[in-house]
Amino acid sequence: MGEQDTIMTGQNMTDRTGWTQVSCPASDRIRDEHLDKVVSSSLTDLDGEYGDPVVYTEWSVGDVPLLRDYRWVATERECEHWIPDAEAAA
Ligand SMILES: [Zn+2]
Repeated sequence: MGEQDTIMTGQNMTDRTGWTQVSCPASDRIRDEHLDKVVSSSLTDLDGEYGDPVVYTEWSVGDVPLLRDYRWVATERECEHWIPDAEAAA
């Protein structure tokens, strides 16, 4: 895991429309429970080209988005974890 081919998605990682934020522990559970997840897109933006410097990862199961992780670097900003609205409502 985590060694998948990565796709640059800087143009849309900042668009959280359709996503709901969850806590760190909740995201840990999701990551642990889905052994079949893959990295569907990722971006390491250490220079802050798209905003605060960040290591961004989006996970999917098959074609279905599962989880987004935003791990901010070089700032005090806390990490963010987001799940699709449909999952949040389930
Ligand atoms: Zn976190």
